[in-house]
Amino acid sequence: MILGHQKQWKFLENSYKLGRLSHAYLFYGPSHIGKKTLAIEFIKFLNCLPASATPKALQAGEKESNKPCGVCRNCRDIEKGIFPDFTLLKPDNKEMKIAQLRKLEYYFSLSPSRSLFKTAVIDQAHSMTQEAQNSFLKTLEEPKGRALFILITEYPDRILPTILSRVQKIKFSLVDKSEISAEIKEQSVPESQIEKIVDFSLGRPGLALNFLKDPKKLLEIEQRVKDFNKLSQFDLFARFQYVQELSKQEPQDIKKVLSIWSRHIRNRIINTLKSAEQNPKQKNYSLIQLQKIIKTISKLQFSFATTNINTRLALETLMLEF
Ligand SMILES: [Zn+2]
Repeated sequence: MILGHQKQWKFLENSYKLGRLSHAYLFYGPSHIGKKTLAIEFIKFLNCLPASATPKALQAGEKESNKPCGVCRNCRDIEKGIFPDFTLLKPDNKEMKIAQLRKLEYYFSLSPSRSLFKTAVIDQAHSMTQEAQNSFLKTLEEPKGRALFILITEYPDRILPTILSRVQKIKFSLVDKSEISAEIKEQSVPESQIEKIVDFSLGRPGLALNFLKDPKKLLEIEQRVKDFNKLSQFDLFARFQYVQELSKQEPQDIKKVLSIWSRHIRNRIINTLKSAEQNPKQKNYSLIQLQKIIKTISKLQFSFATTNINTRLALETLMLEF
C-alpha cells in the first residue's frame, strides 16, 4: 500500500514506459513516510506477471496496469523477500559493513533468473561505512546487464559525492493529513482514534500504520507530547526532577523521547509559520523558543549517537531552554 507520493510514482512509471529508467536512484526525505514501501512496490510493478498478461506483452515489458497486482507469484515472492532477482540490504546493527556490499557485488555479477532486471533496495544507505560506500561505488560503476539500485535515506549528505553524482535523486516529503486520514478510515478504527492517529503521525504514513498495529505506541507518544507541553509550566527544579526520572531509562528510550519531541516541535514550527493566528493550544512556547529547543535536541541526538556523554547533565542543558 502506498500513501501519497503519486508524483514520484508517476515519474518512475513513465521513465519505465519510455525506456528511460536510470540504473540507480536515491529516494531521500524524512523517516516513516513510505520511501522503502514505494521502492518495493515499484520493483513489484517491474516484475508483475498477472495471469491475464499475453506472452507477447510480457516479452516487450508492457504493463496492463499502472500498479502491481499484488497477487501474482512474482509480487508475492517480492513481498516475502524470496524473489531471486531482488535483494533488500539494511544495516546489521547500526552500520552497513563492507562484507554486505561485497555480497551485493557478487549478487549483481549473476544474471537475472526470473526477471529482466536484477534489483536491490539499500535501506538506510547513509549507514554504509566509508569502506562500504567505496565498495558499493565499484558495483555502481560497473553494473552488469540490466541492474536497478534504489538507495533510501533520510541523510543524503552522509553519502559520498561520488555515489550521489551517479544516482538520480528523488525527493519525498511528508504526506498530507487528508490522505492519511482517508486511508485509516478504511480500517475500521473508532472515529476518536482516527483523529489522534492522524495528528500524531505528523504526515508520516509509516507511523500511522505502526499506531494501527500497536496502539501502545500512540499512547506513549501522546504522553511524551503532554510532558513536553507541561514542561514550560514547570519551574527549573521540577524540570530537573523530570530529567532525573527520564535519565534512569535505557539509552534507546531516551533517544526515542528526543526524537518524538523533535518531530513534534518541527511540526509545530511548520504549523505556526503556516497559520497567521496562532493556535491557542500552542501558546505555551514561542517560535524562537521552539527553534532553540530543537537546535539543542539535535545537538544532543548527535552527542548521544557519537559520544558517551552524561545523559542527565545533557538533558539538564536541554531543560534550560524551556
Ligand atoms: Zn503481480
